[in-house]
Amino acid sequence: MSPRTSNYILVGIVVGIVAAFVGVELFGERMIAFEWMGTLFLRALKMIIMPLIMASMIVGITTLGDVRKLGRVGGLTVLYYATTTGLAVALGIVLVNIIQPGVGVAMEVGAATPDAVAGKEEMGFVDIVLSFVSENVFQSMANLDILPVIVFSLLLGAILTTIGRDGEPVIAFFNGLNEAIMKMVVLLMYFAPFGVFGLVAGRFARAGDLGELIGGLGRYMLTVLLGLGIHGFIVLPLILWLFSRRNPLRYLANMATPILTAFSTASSSATLPLTIEATEERNEVSRESAYFVLPLGATVNMDGTALYESVAAIFIAQAVGIDLTFGQQVMIFLTATLAAIGAAGIPQAGLVTMVIVLRAVGLPLEGIALILAVDWLLDRFRTAVNVWGDSVGAGVIDRVLIKMRGTAGEGAGTGGEG
Ligand code: ASP
Repeated sequence: MSPRTSNYILVGIVVGIVAAFVGVELFGERMIAFEWMGTLFLRALKMIIMPLIMASMIVGITTLGDVRKLGRVGGLTVLYYATTTGLAVALGIVLVNIIQPGVGVAMEVGAATPDAVAGKEEMGFVDIVLSFVSENVFQSMANLDILPVIVFSLLLGAILTTIGRDGEPVIAFFNGLNEAIMKMVVLLMYFAPFGVFGLVAGRFARAGDLGELIGGLGRYMLTVLLGLGIHGFIVLPLILWLFSRRNPLRYLANMATPILTAFSTASSSATLPLTIEATEERNEVSRESAYFVLPLGATVNMDGTALYESVAAIFIAQAVGIDLTFGQQVMIFLTATLAAIGAAGIPQAGLVTMVIVLRAVGLPLEGIALILAVDWLLDRFRTAVNVWGDSVGAGVIDRVLIKMRGTAGEGAGTGGEG
């Protein structure tokens, strides 16, 4: 897609979002009539994510060529994820301790555990480990359960590079599939302005009066949004600039379409096709970095979610009147990181994995009821930061790959249209 067309689409998306808000302001609940456009867009995105993830990961890995290189890139990717997620959690902990949004917020005595986490009360570390592997990869695909499919594709891609000529037709097949699906993504982008309009109009029309909804949670929301703002506009751009020498403003502007789509869909997984398109085509990140880092990042790397988990847990502690010790805050740091890794890239997944954080420090799960009303709204902002964090990761890893190629001399890469 030419830069000019994608700029038109971006303008269309912005107009779509603004029109949706204006429409909700003027016509209220009647805007729900447009929700089907959003549903259609979301379905189309979901329709292509599974084949796209398989094909793109296999293309990414086989383009890398050497399994040892994959090990190094994989290690660096994990290091990047862990570092930025940790920074986000730490920032959340600092802010919530300074602002203290939970002090003075009354929690209903005897509140029930919200439906959102019903049946998940026992969730723990082991569940996260188990979620990496499923017993049936086709069933995982059908359920849009991304993590096991990523693990399977990772293994398949790595092994395909080791079996010589037998692997070649399989690699060629996935290359072709990937090309075709990326073309579908481009087609889908033409519909994005309408889809985003429908998604925003439908959800905000259902929400009713936002002021009433926010109620006493204003300071809590402010803490999360401030944290997301600092992480998204200062920390991540700084990391991008320091480690990849790319211009963060331009890089961010080029990611505007997926970031706004993330805001509209509240799902990093559903946004993935557009994230890959923008990172590869507009930011010119090589395909071995983009295709490897982004699908993994969409499910595992969630800076926004991590930050929110720590703020929300400590907010609940403050509301309940529990003074957390330093040790407990460290525990929150560790478990919030884990909870963000364990959260799927779907709407409000972070709310569910917060059970892990609350249980680790003995906070009441009923506290989740406190933040439930505004969670869908915060989810949109944290998803936008999640997607931005993934693309920054791809930019950083790309730089490392370029350096590796430089030191190893020519001849290692096959594709790489960076
Ligand atoms: N909705 C988020 C995402 O898809 C996950 C969450 O924080 O609930 O990235």
